[in-house]
Amino acid sequence: MEGIECMKQILILGGGAAGIIAAIAAAENSPDCRVTILEKNPRIGKKLLATGNGRCNLDNTSISPDCYFTSDQNTMKEMLAHIDRADPLGWFRQHGLLCRSDEAGRIYPYSNQAADVLNLLLYWLEQQKVELRCGCAVRDIDRRGAAYVVTAADGQRFMADAVICALGGKAGPQFGTDGFGLELARLCGCAMEPVYPCLVPLNSEKKQIAGLSGVRVKGEISLWDGERLLRTENGEVQFTDYGISGIAVMQLSGLLGPHYHLRQPEIHVDLFPHLAEQELVSYLQERSRLLPETDARGFMTGLVHPRVGAAVWKAADMGKEERKLSTLSSGEWGKLAHSLKCWRFRGLSPTDWKNAQTTGGGIALSQLCSDSFQLRGCEGLYFVGETVDCAGCCGGYNLHWAFGSGLLAGHHAAMLLKNQRKSSAKAPKTQKSAAKKKKKS
Ligand SMILES: Cc1cc2nc3c(=O)[nH]c(=O)nc-3n(C[C@H](O)[C@H](O)[C@H](O)COP(=O)(O)OP(=O)(O)OC[C@H]3O[C@@H](n4cnc5c(N)ncnc54)[C@H](O)[C@@H]3O)c2cc1C
Repeated sequence: MEGIECMKQILILGGGAAGIIAAIAAAENSPDCRVTILEKNPRIGKKLLATGNGRCNLDNTSISPDCYFTSDQNTMKEMLAHIDRADPLGWFRQHGLLCRSDEAGRIYPYSNQAADVLNLLLYWLEQQKVELRCGCAVRDIDRRGAAYVVTAADGQRFMADAVICALGGKAGPQFGTDGFGLELARLCGCAMEPVYPCLVPLNSEKKQIAGLSGVRVKGEISLWDGERLLRTENGEVQFTDYGISGIAVMQLSGLLGPHYHLRQPEIHVDLFPHLAEQELVSYLQERSRLLPETDARGFMTGLVHPRVGAAVWKAADMGKEERKLSTLSSGEWGKLAHSLKCWRFRGLSPTDWKNAQTTGGGIALSQLCSDSFQLRGCEGLYFVGETVDCAGCCGGYNLHWAFGSGLLAGHHAAMLLKNQRKSSAKAPKTQKSAAKKKKKS
């Protein structure tokens, strides 16, 4: 009927970081569209509340491609450049969020409360009249001509002109992300990169960590593959009963993804990074002169944590701990110094999804338009956030990606529907003038 047109509908699947901001951006840029979020949890933003230990490290002052893991570096760089232009942090500031950054460039809300980031997002969802359908688990998506039909687990169906899939990955299933986002992408025909838990503690050979559970050490932590050094982090190693954890270890875990094809990954911990190995040998020998009557246990106590001392002594194959220091040869001092500078952990593998902060792998980046995250060949269908093959390091990089990709997709979907509306408004006029021309002739 002329003059009456149905309101266009944008559906957002998933009410996490990427989905919420996509919904606000879509609504802000297309006031005449209805925007609805379908979220399976009773409330949106559950994972967001847990980020940054409840403080929400939402961005970083030094965003760079080096801080992301993907199997397609070139496309990731392009996407990241578009995200940087979308400026998620600037968006938050414009919407009223006061932020602060720490010495490592990590950006937090000034209140240090993740709840305040969510409160701000809830306020803008309300202002933009975004409809929230919580407790609604998406099960399927289908295309009907130019439109999409989304089916929920309870059989409800939702028609939409554009759909933004922001269902997350597999990390942190306790927050609602059981991998369905990846499954849905597969159903839509997306090529996928193998997924793996990322930013996660690592299992290691049991004998190397025996007796160390609960101990923390500081040092320089490097990931090696045979003779090849892959990356070094400074920080803390926390020992658990299954392996090693701590932020530095979690950062390195991203390099254990299948596309890095590591054959013999090893973590080396340098407990004395400020000393060259020969300097450490000299220091140890000097120390032994100060403590001539002690055995290994006495010698190591005060130098490092006693349980670390015992483990390093063993790793260096120095014999019994009761041994008198005076019996050590200069070669053995060298072995001990080497072990303190290069304490090795082998048999590394990521622990489970529950401990992971993000998902490595996912939708191959080449499947998506880098400026909008629209699926190539599927106008109006977008995949954003953690579902795609790009995982960031700890430090606000993942939320930068999630918020930025959500902004780009939300904005693009709004513009797409606006343009569709304009061209469909023009269509009858064209028909009329064609009819007039026909009459005249
Ligand atoms: C403990 C923890 C701490 C973290 N801390 C930080 C940090 O400080 N800084 C940082 O940058 N990153 C951090 N991250 C990573 C960051 O939280 C994620 O990268 C980010 O949340 C991804 O956003 P997303 O919107 O893509 O996915 P999610 O935030 O995972 O959102 C996906 C949403 O989809 C919903 N959903 C899933 N399946 C369905 C379905 N079938 N139907 C309907 N809804 C569904 C989920 O319930 C969820 O709400 C942390 C992660 C964890 C687990």
